[in-house]
Amino acid sequence: MTSLLIKNGFVFDPLNGVKGEKMDIAIENGKIVEKINEREAKIIDASGMIVMPGGVDIHSHIAGAKVNSGRLLRPEDHFKDVEPKTPITRSGVGYSIPSTFTTGYRYARMGYTTVMDPAMPPLKARHTHEEFNDTPIIDKAAYPLLGDCWFVLEYLKKNRIEECAAYVAWMLKATKGYAIKIVNPGGLEAWGFGRNVRNIDDPVPNFGITPREIIRGLCKVNKLLNLPHTIHVHTNNLGKPGNYINTLETMRCVEDLVENGKPAIHITHCQFSAFAGDDWRTFDSGAEAIAKYVNAHSHVTLDMGQIIFTETTTMTADGPFQFILYELSGNKWVNSDVETETSAGIVPFQYKRKSFVHAMQWSIAMELALLIQDPWKIFLTTDHPNAGPFTHYPRVISWLISRKAREKILERINRKAQRKSLVPTIDREYSLYEIAVITRAGQSKALGLKNKGHLGVGADADIAIYNLNPETLDLAQKPKTVRKAFERAAYTIKDGNITVKNGEVVSTPSGRTFWVNVEAPQAEIEISKKLQQKFGEYYTVKYENYPVPEHYLAIPASINVKAEVQ
Ligand SMILES: [Zn+2]
Repeated sequence: MTSLLIKNGFVFDPLNGVKGEKMDIAIENGKIVEKINEREAKIIDASGMIVMPGGVDIHSHIAGAKVNSGRLLRPEDHFKDVEPKTPITRSGVGYSIPSTFTTGYRYARMGYTTVMDPAMPPLKARHTHEEFNDTPIIDKAAYPLLGDCWFVLEYLKKNRIEECAAYVAWMLKATKGYAIKIVNPGGLEAWGFGRNVRNIDDPVPNFGITPREIIRGLCKVNKLLNLPHTIHVHTNNLGKPGNYINTLETMRCVEDLVENGKPAIHITHCQFSAFAGDDWRTFDSGAEAIAKYVNAHSHVTLDMGQIIFTETTTMTADGPFQFILYELSGNKWVNSDVETETSAGIVPFQYKRKSFVHAMQWSIAMELALLIQDPWKIFLTTDHPNAGPFTHYPRVISWLISRKAREKILERINRKAQRKSLVPTIDREYSLYEIAVITRAGQSKALGLKNKGHLGVGADADIAIYNLNPETLDLAQKPKTVRKAFERAAYTIKDGNITVKNGEVVSTPSGRTFWVNVEAPQAEIEISKKLQQKFGEYYTVKYENYPVPEHYLAIPASINVKAEVQ
C-alpha cells in the first residue's frame, strides 16, 4: 500500500479539536500516522480545500430483504435514474432505492466511508450480508431488530434481564449485527394480529408487557453487554400527530438508567416523532419541546430524518405505520411479517412543497437541528429512503449552513406551514466544524467506532476532501457552491486508497462489515440449549441453520466486547 500525504488543507477534525487549521495529514498502510517520508509518498495538494474524516451515516436503509422488495416494487424508480457503467464501475439503477453497487459509489462520491443499515430482521441477516458484500468502498454494519422478538418479550416480561442479555449477545453473533434496534416496541408484535400499541404504557397483546418495559429492559441489556452503541429507538406512534409527548416519555423512561451522564438512548429520525396537534388539520411542530428536553439532558442522541421534497420510497419495520401511510396515500403497498421477530412495510411516497403536512415536516427536522444547541447530540440523516434519498445530504448541509438557503425554500412551501414554522425566527448558521460533527465525528462517537470519524494517529485513513475554501468564500451566502462541493468530493480516501477523484469513482475496494462479538461464554452455552428447543417450536428454520458464519461476510471486522454477564 502506498503512503499518502495530504498537504495544506483546512482540516476539520472535531474529535481531536481541530477547527479548520491548515495542516498536513500523513497516511501509511491504510492508517493515519504521525509523519512519513515525503519523498516516498504520493502528495495530494489540498490547498484551498477542506479536509474532513470520511462521512459516517448512523441510519440508512441500504441492504436486505426489505430494501430489495422495495426495488422490486418500484420499477419506475429504476428507469428514472441510471448509474452508467465506466471502466471502473458497474452500471446500476435506482433513485430512492439504488442497487447495491450504485449505493457504494454514491456514498463514496459524497465523501462518506461508513454506513449503518438500521433494520435487519434477524431471520433475514444472510440477505443483508449478501447485499453488503456487493456494496463497494464503504464500511457497513447492521442493527438486528430485537424489540419485538418473542424471546426478548418473554425474558423481559419475567424481568430476566441477564438471560435476555445472553440471548441478545447470541443474536448479535448469530446475525453478525452491531446494535440493538427497537422499532415501535410491542407495536410490531401487535401488528401480527392487525393491531398496534397506542403509547409507551399500552400493554402488548398476548404478552402483557409494555413498550416502556421493553425499552428499559433492552437499555439495561445494552449496558450489561457493554455494547459500543446505545439502544437505537424508533418510537411508538411514529408519524402520528401528537406523538412528541410519547417521544419525550421515551427519552425520560431511561433517565434513571444513565451512568455518568453517558448516552443511553438514540432516538432515530426524530422528525417523524416530533409531531404536535390532535389530527392532520391541527398538525403542528413538537420540535421545540423535544429540543428543550435534549438541551437539558446528556443521555440522548438523535438523528434528523430530514424531509426532502421529492418522490421517494418509505420502508420500515413499523408495519402498522406503513399501513396508515398506505391508506393516506392510496399508493401501492407491501407488508411482511417475519415469523417470531418483526414486521415490515413499504409504500412509495411523494413529499410536496405545497402540502401543509409535508412542509411542516421539512420545518420540524430543520427546527430540531437548529434548536438543539449541541451538535454532538443531533446527526444529519434523511432516514434514507424514508424522508428522501441519501444523495440529498449536501442539500441539507447547505440549509444548515445558510439562512439564505432556508429562506428560499420557505418562500415556496405551503402558506399555512410558512406561518407556523419556527425556521424564519432562527438565525443560527452551522459552521463547517459543526457540519463535521453532525456528519461524521458525532455519529462515529455515538456508534463507539474508535477508528472512524477522526484523523488522529492510528485512525483508519478514511478521508474526504472538498473543494471549498472557507478563507475566500462566505459559505452562508453561497449555499449552492457548498452543496455542489459536498455532492462531489475532490477526493475520497478509503483505508488509504484514493477511491474518488473530482467526484468520479476511480477505484472500488471492498469495505469491511463490522459486527459486535460479545464475550459471555457461560451465558451463551446456557442460552443455546434453551434456544435449540424453542427453535423447534417457533421457527421454520432450524437452529443449526440460523446463524450467519463469519466467512459469509466479505471482509468481517469483529469488535470484541466483554459483557458483565458471564
Ligand atoms: Zn429508518
